[in-house]
Amino acid sequence: MSPVERFQTAAGVAAAVATGERSARSVLDEHLARIDEREGEIHAFNHLLADEARARADEIDARIAAGEDVGPLAGVPVALKDNLCTRGIPTTCSSKILDGWRPPYDATVVTRLRDAGAVVIGKTNLDEFAMGSSTENSAFGATRNPLDTSRVPGGSSGGSAAAVAAGFAPISLGSDTGGSIRQPAALCGVVGAKPTYGRASRYGLIAFASSLDQIGPFARTVEDAALLMEVVGGHDPLDATSIPEPFPDLRGTLGRGVEGLRIGLVEELLGGEGGFQPEVQARTREAADALEAAGAKVDVVSVPASTYGLSAYYLIAPAEASSNLARFDGVRFGLRDERATMGETYDATRTAGFGAEVKRRIMLGTYALSSGYYDAYYGKAQRVRTMIIDDFDAAYERFDVLLSPSSPCVAFPLGDKTADPLTMYLNDVCTIPSSLAGHPAMSVPFGTGAEGLPVGIQVMAPALGEEQMFRVAAALEAAAPGGAR
Ligand code: GLN
Repeated sequence: MSPVERFQTAAGVAAAVATGERSARSVLDEHLARIDEREGEIHAFNHLLADEARARADEIDARIAAGEDVGPLAGVPVALKDNLCTRGIPTTCSSKILDGWRPPYDATVVTRLRDAGAVVIGKTNLDEFAMGSSTENSAFGATRNPLDTSRVPGGSSGGSAAAVAAGFAPISLGSDTGGSIRQPAALCGVVGAKPTYGRASRYGLIAFASSLDQIGPFARTVEDAALLMEVVGGHDPLDATSIPEPFPDLRGTLGRGVEGLRIGLVEELLGGEGGFQPEVQARTREAADALEAAGAKVDVVSVPASTYGLSAYYLIAPAEASSNLARFDGVRFGLRDERATMGETYDATRTAGFGAEVKRRIMLGTYALSSGYYDAYYGKAQRVRTMIIDDFDAAYERFDVLLSPSSPCVAFPLGDKTADPLTMYLNDVCTIPSSLAGHPAMSVPFGTGAEGLPVGIQVMAPALGEEQMFRVAAALEAAAPGGAR
């Protein structure tokens, strides 16, 4: 049996806690015991909040004993990526530059979790400022994949993915700018989803690339991912990019099957020209076959401009990052290396506070935005982005959802890709196109590849297409062979 099936789901825990069949405290203690056992080797957390979580679980038990309805996540332990602001609790983005900073407010998603009765168990490790695909770019050391600790969990939300895969929490939140939920979900054998741009509030998410960043769930089941997405999603007046609509009832659609749905296998994202592991390609074809057997109409579709996604993303995302990260100046947040002049203080603080990958992105982005180069780089990348959106629009005229692998490979050994940034960037080749389009996309485990490690299938949908995306995800989950080892 797969290790991910041994533990209870969020839906199961919440039901048991709400009826008093189990106490929130006993659920929490069980998860803390697992953390005690394995966190030393995995390093999923930057900060474990055991005492706060115990107090919170006891409070929930008291409220339930008093007859209160505490919400749809009653007593469910949740881990939070450490780029989500938590009031009074260190929030580091796994960067030295935020050393000692405690946010004066909670992110909206954190408030919504608390209002739903969840128990925040800790803040999880990430690639510094969410820049990376392996969680090796953390200032606090790498996270390891619970399925094979010699391998990476993916990134940048590797800590959140590993926490769920290891049974440290049934669900967690991550952020996805170019694939940082979907790729680690695939590598850790869990479900991970990125909603439509604007569907989850980013108030309190420390910005990386604002035209791309979205918050989303990790879970062991599609149902749990839907539940968590419903809790954190929906309009928030505190985020100007938030879509002014309530979030749909996703869980209600999960049992509807895929009969009659039109599903397109994206030719350009199947790795025809190499670079993709053959087992990953084989599982993707089998996933398409399984959906066809379940009543969907499956065909191959071309989204030609998606081949330029990676190049456009690595101009647009660093450009936005160079602007967003200008605020870390040694004056307002965290680290300060005081020097004789203000300019020298900025220099010294940023030199000491940022890691190599963050510096690389800031320099790339500053260059792409500089006068004389703006049109040739940033401007052209934006035009490519529009072409990608147009090509997706054309594909979605004929298909309800699109399918591809989530990642070209299964979890790779630590250190394997750190020497060459371009090799690392290639991990995002499948996930970036829908990020640039602002569309929802998710990863569902579907069998295993090399070394018996999990393969994730990406389900993409047009803007606001979460319902059909989750229907297909549920069908894939039901048809998945065996599960992760
Ligand atoms: N791996 C991609 C990058 O390094 C995506 C990161 C993300 O989605 N936060 O930019």
